[in-house]
Amino acid sequence: MAKVDDFLIIREYDSLSREANSLKTQMDEELTRLKRREGDLADRQALLKTREADMRSLNDQIAELDRRLAQRLSPEMAAKVEEEGLAMLIRQQELEVEIEEHKTFLAGFSKTVKDIREEIELNLSNQKMKRDATLERAQNLFTTLPEDWQKAYQKIAAKNPAHGVFTRLDGLKCQFCRGAVSKVFESEVDTQFQLKACPSCGRLVLPYKTVAG
Ligand SMILES: [Zn+2]
Repeated sequence: MAKVDDFLIIREYDSLSREANSLKTQMDEELTRLKRREGDLADRQALLKTREADMRSLNDQIAELDRRLAQRLSPEMAAKVEEEGLAMLIRQQELEVEIEEHKTFLAGFSKTVKDIREEIELNLSNQKMKRDATLERAQNLFTTLPEDWQKAYQKIAAKNPAHGVFTRLDGLKCQFCRGAVSKVFESEVDTQFQLKACPSCGRLVLPYKTVAG
């Protein structure tokens, strides 16, 4: 009967480890959310820069046209240059409107991203604290387990089996993989409280007493 409590400890350890993993997943998701928003913001800022560069280049072209118009030109040439100039002025107005729109949008969006960043950083810091505490509790429990139990747990946990590392017996079969076990195996688990792995799937078999009631 020596180790029945160890089953409670190893289950608690397993549950804390899962909790810590799930917190890690949540933290990764928060970071992804933040990166996505910051990426959107950077894209919009880059677009504004492009439009501002377009505007500078257009202003240079307009200045160049003005210089040409100041020279003595044939009437046909003057008409052509003026026509070009008119098209450029229209484009200049369009760009001005577009740049203003980008700036207005960016002012709001920067504020939104800043709020989101603050919210996410707070979430991350809370999740980190919770995760550190959970890992510490888990580690403290783990070190109280017999060494061969620690090894057995790590061996199956490394395989990260679906539905967890534990199984139980259903008659003389593993509840998960339906692999057969002997009567002796069953008695070692259920009456001697030995930690044994299912010979077929490797999951750790919980004694009837620790899973019932
Ligand atoms: Zn099994």
